Amino acid sequence: PNTQYELLRRRIYANTKEFWFYIHSNLLEIQKKAGDVAPDIVDIINQVLSLGAEHKRSLLHDITKLAEVDGYEDWRQKESQDLSDLVQERFKFLQNPEDCDTARKLVCSLNKGCGYGCQLHHVVYCFMVAYGTKRTLILKSKGWRYHKSGWEDIFMPLSDTCTSPDGETMANWPGHVETQVINLPIIDSLSPRPPYLPLAIPEDLAPRLTRLHGDPVVWWVGQILKYLLRPREKTTNLIEDAINKLGYKRPIVGVHVRRTDKVGTEAAFHGLEEYMTAVDEYYKQLSLSQKIDKKRIYLASDDPKVLLEAKTKYTDYEVICDPQISKTAAVSSRYSDTSLFGIILDIHMLSLSDFLVCTFSSQVCRVAYEIMQNYYPDASSRYKSLDDIYYYGGQNPHNMIAVYPHEPKRQAEMQIAVGDLIGVAGNHWNGFSKGRNLRTNQNGLYPSFKMKDKIEVAKFPVYSELYK
Ligand code: GDP
Repeated sequence: PNTQYELLRRRIYANTKEFWFYIHSNLLEIQKKAGDVAPDIVDIINQVLSLGAEHKRSLLHDITKLAEVDGYEDWRQKESQDLSDLVQERFKFLQNPEDCDTARKLVCSLNKGCGYGCQLHHVVYCFMVAYGTKRTLILKSKGWRYHKSGWEDIFMPLSDTCTSPDGETMANWPGHVETQVINLPIIDSLSPRPPYLPLAIPEDLAPRLTRLHGDPVVWWVGQILKYLLRPREKTTNLIEDAINKLGYKRPIVGVHVRRTDKVGTEAAFHGLEEYMTAVDEYYKQLSLSQKIDKKRIYLASDDPKVLLEAKTKYTDYEVICDPQISKTAAVSSRYSDTSLFGIILDIHMLSLSDFLVCTFSSQVCRVAYEIMQNYYPDASSRYKSLDDIYYYGGQNPHNMIAVYPHEPKRQAEMQIAVGDLIGVAGNHWNGFSKGRNLRTNQNGLYPSFKMKDKIEVAKFPVYSELYK
């Protein structure tokens, strides 16, 4: 297919959702205002909301169908596989130098003082810089807070030939091209910042990725996680055992409810009903294309109380979760050996879901979403985040390009001209997003559908020696 076709198809899908966000949230507001004074209007609005939602679902259904019958589905599958093979081969080449004694290395320590998801993102960032500087990534992980004996006990080592951080010359980032070993700090204290940081994708892959995938950088992160998280045999066995015991079946929606220390500090509280409304909507949508035997969720949370609430309140659902949830997710055992398998299992199961409902403010859910990209040519719209849009901690500004002009209708909105770059701060999921117009320096709201994403690219090495 030509790129324009794929971009348009995805754009119609995304903007159908945006259209409904706008109508739905405005009708709810009007309904609230009508409340006491005009009960007949409340009823009418309910009817409009109900049929409107059906209308929206039918549109989304048809657009999804379109991709099944346009004759490009085989191409999407193959292109996805080919691109994955291509980068995985490069990763393997980068990580297995012929002579480790002379190989140029980038050293990272796994022990960033944060949770598992945050630490994974730390390693992914290290890997991006390693790939960008063509240095073998050496991961120091002894004494890891989640597993004292280290990463290699759980996952395959990042290299078969080269895991020693030693070298003739050593320096802290940025060092020199000739410096054999360079130590990389965490992204928050990185200076100078190389061009390889998210949301940038490799320039040589950009045309193919832009055509194939709705959010190329998520694909890119997913590919790095695919390489990093190759499990040891015993890890595979543990996971498979657990899955067999869970009674896991599809269709299934992955629900991640992040509570405890996150709420009130880094994220707002969201009640379980908000998650379940999104799950319900997913199943209503799905029922247009298949018969649903049982509505199922995989529930992951750091708060075991959520499980009890789900099982008591949502009896029309089959609720599957880690049976060890109270042991592994408890704050008291957080960041320790006891909690490692729990979080590995939860992220794995969430990533295997047909759809994810969560808060993207949590790195746990973002990691699951990134890994999910490995199971579909394009899984970029298989989620509902109750708060943030996708981001990568420490990323460069996320810019969008205006494709329609906008004249503000309310104080909070801003003026936009076609071609303006907008640094997006967030989507309010009501038809509007918030951001800063880089031309006018104004901050404000704008209709989300008036933008398109600006795909950031950087000149990474192209590993041409692999194709001689
Ligand atoms: P964030 O704080 O939510 O952005 O994600 P992090 O992964 O950086 O830190 C949160 C930590 O809390 C995780 O790494 C886990 O140790 C724990 N945690 C959070 N949510 C879950 C969950 O759903 N299941 C389990 N088992 N642990 C969780």
